[in-house]
Parts: sequence; C-alpha cells; structure tokens
Amino acid sequence: MVDFIPVHTAHIITMCPGGRPVAVMENLEEEKNIATVVSRFLEKRMLEKQDFITLIDNRDSPVVSASAGSTVRSLLKVRSVSETLSVFGNRIYVRGLIEFTNYCRNNCLYCGIRAGNTEAQRYRITEEQILNCCGEGYRLGFRTFVLQGGEDPFYTDEMIAGIVRSIKKTYSDCAVTLSVGEHEYETYRLWREAGADRYLLRQETADNGHYSRLHPSSMSPVHRKQCLENLKALGYQTGAGFMVGSPFQTTANIADDLLYLSGLGPEMIGIGPFIHHDKTPFRNEKDGSAELTLFLLSVLRIMFPRVLLPATTALGTIQNDGREQGVLYGANVIMPNLSPVGVRGKYLLYNNKICTGEEAAECSSCLQRRMNAIGYKIVVDRGDYMKEQN
Ligand code: SAH
Repeated sequence: MVDFIPVHTAHIITMCPGGRPVAVMENLEEEKNIATVVSRFLEKRMLEKQDFITLIDNRDSPVVSASAGSTVRSLLKVRSVSETLSVFGNRIYVRGLIEFTNYCRNNCLYCGIRAGNTEAQRYRITEEQILNCCGEGYRLGFRTFVLQGGEDPFYTDEMIAGIVRSIKKTYSDCAVTLSVGEHEYETYRLWREAGADRYLLRQETADNGHYSRLHPSSMSPVHRKQCLENLKALGYQTGAGFMVGSPFQTTANIADDLLYLSGLGPEMIGIGPFIHHDKTPFRNEKDGSAELTLFLLSVLRIMFPRVLLPATTALGTIQNDGREQGVLYGANVIMPNLSPVGVRGKYLLYNNKICTGEEAAECSSCLQRRMNAIGYKIVVDRGDYMKEQN
C-alpha cells in the first residue's frame, strides 16, 4: 500500500530539520494522520467513525503521492472512477422516474410536498397515464420504471399492487422500483409478490437526534430503519441514502450514515444536496454543496464497488454539470423524469428543480449528449445489482 506523505509535512521536514516548535509538531502529526487515514481507507474500504470524520473534514488537504498536486479528494476520485470502470465499464444505467402523486400525509420539514404546504398544487395521475409513461419510456430505451410519490392514503395497498402487476404484465423485461415511503411488512410483501423488484427509501439520517430535527415527532427513525430491514428481508434490491448538508447535519452525522449503510448493505444508494424549498420551515436554511456530495459519491463507490449509485437531480440542480460530475466521481445511474409534462412542475421537493419543462424524449436525448460528452454511454438494460461471483 502506498504511504502518502502530506505535502506540508514534506515541506516542514526540509525547512526545519532540527527541533520544531510545538505548533508545527502538532500540524505535522495531524497531516501524518490524514495520510494514514487515506491510506487505510483505500486499503480497507472502511474506517472507524473518527477516521471518517478526519477523511471528510480534510477532503481538500494536499497529500504527496506519485501524481503531483494530489489532495485527499483527487486520490479518492481516481480510485473511485477506476472501481466504477472495472465493474460497469463506461455504461450508465437509466431509470425512468414517474412521480405519480404529490399528496403526502407526512410533514418532513425539508420537503416541498409536505402535508403542511397548503400552496402545493396537488395531483395524482391515473394508472392509464402511468402505463403511457412506461410506453414512452420503453420506446426511449428505459428498462426500469421508478414509481415515486408521497405517502398518499388515497392508494390502498391493493391499488399499488395492481399498478405494479399491470406494468410487469405489459413490460415483462423491465424492472419496477417503488419509492412510496414507510409501510408495514405485509404491504411490502404484497408489492414484492406483485412483481416489484426494487425499493428506494432513504434513511435521511442515521442519527436519531438529527432525524428528530428534520421530521415531526410522529415520524420515527426506528421505524424507518425497520422498513429498510424488512425490504432487504423480502428480497428487494434496496436503496437507502441521505441528504448532504441537511440542516443541523454534522460531519459526525455523515460518518454515522456511512457506518449505517455499511451495516445495511444496500444495493442502491441515493445521496444529493439538501436544497431549501420556500414553503417549508427550512426556507431560510443553507443549501448543501455539490463539492461535498461529489466527494461522498467517491467515498461510497470505494466502500461499495458494485452499488447502483445515481447522480441525482438535486445534484444537477445545485450545479449545472452536477450529474456529469457525479459520474466523474463514481456514480453509474441517472434517473430522468418520465412524468407527464403537465405535472412535472408540481412535484417540487425543493426550489428550482431542473427538467420540469421538457418532454421525456428531450430529457433523454439531453442526458445522452451529456454522458457522451464525458466519454460515457447510456445503455438499454434493467441494470440490476450484480452480486459478486464466488
Ligand atoms: N415519500 C418517499 C419519497 C420521498 S422524495 C419517501 O419517503 O421515501 C425522495 C427523496 O427526496 C427523499 O428521500 C429526500 O431525501 C429527498 N428530498 C426531499 N426534500 C428534499 C430537499 N428539500 N432537498 C433535497 N432533497 C430532498
């Protein structure tokens, strides 16, 4: 394993061969520590909590390595991309996102479609409209459809199961992903038996105290984690994840999220920057950053070489080339919007969401161009999680 020497340390060693002042000694120790942490992470793909904090907080510190001008970030980025290329090549999977309802019984403080936002224009699309979206998506080469929505009590468990069955019947070579929040084991089982292949449910934050600052007291982090366990037990390809830079989030919280994900072993991980929404209690909160999100994508790719890792719409919203950058940091999935254009602008989780105006075909060709421009190609493939062959 390469032993990295922090740039500053090398400099200090040549400048001060003799007795160094205490402050410099401390600096030197810290820099040695960063280099050791990076080296350990690249070797073990895992760290203890305190070391994750060191890694994240020093992401832009210089480190001496074979290539000049390296930083923690650049070293991890290079490694992450090489991991991604060796598992997936330059192939990018696409998922057609169908946002079929923006009604929600919950009141998550960050979310624009929270029940308490009386100014949201609520909509539901019909099963026929959903199937039309799939038809259009299929023609465009999509082989995964993601049904996402708020927790909308209008839909009985059986209604959702019926929609899943219809899609699977018509498009038997496609995967169906559900993302409709927290439900009981039996409900998840019904949907799984109806043919749902995957489920997205971000833990949002693994820290219970932090969770309670982002959600009303009616929502429980323990229940959310139980849902994730249940989804795994039922054989769903399960997606977890968190917002980057959500209000009150500390580096220690992020470290806990990484440790939580490591214990869960999800097949998919979704992360994106928190972006404030004007009609939520977090309207005045600071947005998360693309730079930290990108760094964490590379960390996640190194921890989970085979995980399905999207460059999210939120990342593309906070930074114009966010999705391209996401891929260049180790993401391998893009989730273009297939929802009918008439409702696109109403599924607003946060301010200034991109791609709310274009037809599906336009979105699709735009993303194809963007991926081709950075040397990647979108493929026609279900893009299932590939277990390691023993
Ligand atoms: N009701 C479903 C789907 C939620 S929307 C569920 O509970 O899983 C999908 C994701 O969007 C959420 O999990 C959350 O992480 C993200 N999101 C919500 N509001 C956001 C905001 N203001 N900024 C960035 N991401 C947000």
